[in-house]
Amino acid sequence: MSEHYVKVKIHVEQMKSFGEDAEKQGVDAEEEEQVAVSSSPPASVSPDPPSITIAGRDVSNTFKHRGKSRIKIGKDDKNICDKHSLDVSLHGGRNVNKLGHERTLHIKGTGKILQGKNNENNGVSMHPSKNIQVARREDGFKLARKRRPVTVDTSKAKTSLEALKLSIRQLKWKEFPLGRRAPCDIYWHGVSFHDNENIVSGQVNKFPGMIEMLRKINLSRAVRTMQELFPEEYDFYPRSWILPEECQQFSTQIRMVKENDASVNPTFIVKPDGGSQGDGIYLIRDPSDLKLMVGSQTKQAVVQEYIQRPLLIDKLKFDIRLYVLLKSLEPLEIYIAKEGLTRFCTEPYQEPSQKNLSHVFMHLTNYSLNVHSGNFVHSNSQSTGSKRSLSSVLYRLAAKGVDIKKVWSDIIALVIKTTIAVVPELRVYYQAEIPPGKPGPTCFQILGFDILLMKNLKPVLLEVNSNPSMRIEHEQEMAPGVFEYVPSPVDEEVKVGVIKDTLRLMDPGHKRTSISNLRAGGLDHGEEIPMEAEPQDRSPDEGALPSLCLKQVYPKYTKQFNYLRLVERIAALFIRFLGVKGNMRLGPTAFRTFIRTCKLSNSNCSMASVDILYIDITRRWSGTMADSREAGNTHTHTRTHTHTHTDTHTRTLKHGCKNNLFPTKEQHVH
Ligand code: ADP
Repeated sequence: MSEHYVKVKIHVEQMKSFGEDAEKQGVDAEEEEQVAVSSSPPASVSPDPPSITIAGRDVSNTFKHRGKSRIKIGKDDKNICDKHSLDVSLHGGRNVNKLGHERTLHIKGTGKILQGKNNENNGVSMHPSKNIQVARREDGFKLARKRRPVTVDTSKAKTSLEALKLSIRQLKWKEFPLGRRAPCDIYWHGVSFHDNENIVSGQVNKFPGMIEMLRKINLSRAVRTMQELFPEEYDFYPRSWILPEECQQFSTQIRMVKENDASVNPTFIVKPDGGSQGDGIYLIRDPSDLKLMVGSQTKQAVVQEYIQRPLLIDKLKFDIRLYVLLKSLEPLEIYIAKEGLTRFCTEPYQEPSQKNLSHVFMHLTNYSLNVHSGNFVHSNSQSTGSKRSLSSVLYRLAAKGVDIKKVWSDIIALVIKTTIAVVPELRVYYQAEIPPGKPGPTCFQILGFDILLMKNLKPVLLEVNSNPSMRIEHEQEMAPGVFEYVPSPVDEEVKVGVIKDTLRLMDPGHKRTSISNLRAGGLDHGEEIPMEAEPQDRSPDEGALPSLCLKQVYPKYTKQFNYLRLVERIAALFIRFLGVKGNMRLGPTAFRTFIRTCKLSNSNCSMASVDILYIDITRRWSGTMADSREAGNTHTHTRTHTHTHTDTHTRTLKHGCKNNLFPTKEQHVH
């Protein structure tokens, strides 16, 4: 008897027993909900049209159900929560073969339980026409999937809840809006890794340390480290200075530039370190205009070269919001969403002049600012209005003769290089939070890359958001001063697509497939996981989902970018030699040991200067970290320090040690 036959037999037996169980138990509240959900959207049984059409249809479906305002949505959420608390109490102790029940019962709910079995048998009988290996893989995958639905804890999803619910519903997975005692497969957090404490298994949609890592100062530091090593490769990030510590440097350099060429009159943009949504941002033309103090406090900020000639559409400045999935740190796996958003200014652009520096609707593309301008255009079309889909903008550029393939490949390169810049420190955070041997979840995260296209079409990185908004409604002024949240088709189209694809990629069943690919050596050779082959690998009901909008770019392009992963190797040594485990603290002795073990001391860098370096780093990082708590997060590694900044930085440089040798916050120690 062939192995394949055995598997098929087991499969059929299982389907039978699911059916029997289902008949015995009857349909309860939970199954009714499943029936209602799975029988309503016709999209799930339609052929595989382009994602835009499907999501367009989903939009109209969901709009009928969803609230017109925030208040209504809140009520809906409560109803769902109430229903689920009932579900939890009804099914708390049921066995793990739930999916089988639900799928069978879904059919039973329509009065077709036998047909359901036959369908499954039909599915099996289709296999002989396929390659045996493919069939085996499908069987294994289906068996795993049939055991129980993938469970998602959405209790901490916050503003992404609505898009998440839609995605879970479309995948026919199981949502736990109030969390549950037993572990879930996936935990969806709205803010940070620590939104739920004590997760010991499954997968969390946030990496520890990501918020800190992507703050404006830390991102600038990480990119700068790479700019020092690979200046040409990292020229996509505007020149930046960290305030207050580099204030002097900034003033001196600008003065020199102006003295050398009087016709040069650059503009700079100042961004508060912890800021978002354009808060506290201002433009300056002279270093003396820097506002270093807010009240009696020195403000941490980044001052950055302002891109004076952005690409304009309809005379307006716009930027791109690109969604990127960091699926895994080790091995490094990066996916880019093929569809994104573009956010438009609401006042025609003019190059900066002393007169227009304060015109935020002209210079800043933030949706949160422009939505309050009288000129903001809400549109149901993806290709008009103040927020448009990325594809509509790219098509428009292509129609004008722009080589959008080149633009897109430059964007992919920017994303991979930026991710490579932040990964070393993330790995230290990860190791400190979930050291090997400690039970804990694995992590993945959707990031929001904000990218500006220059007039010459070169993409420039503005910032990376660790918590890109996943809201699928937008604010609309219904009467003067009265704002309501109303559904936003373009947001829904893009964001539900990204979340759903992310979930599918993080499906524990799917993960097993990628791990076996990895073991088989697929990823080692930097080959692309064949995304095109995936639809055939799906079970029949999944086959109707639109094709993935997330596209793997790493390890696909390993060969092209692997040489940039130098700092990561240093970080790996750092973790290994310091034995970073469970915390981020590093004492002076350990630091000495590290320098010695790695043979980093020499005649230019004595042990005395290593000690000074240690003190310097400690002070510098304590200063940086003083107000860097994670928003909405009670758990933090941050401590406040009262040290004053000294000139040790200059001294250590004189001693020949690069003070940013290991630009990580694990040096935030005493
Ligand atoms: P925030 O997190 O507050 O949104 P960003 O770094 O995204 O801060 O900047 C806000 C907006 O300012 C951007 O969306 C963009 O329109 C504009 N901007 C930021 N940096 C630059 C720059 N270097 N050159 C030109 N415009 C910029």
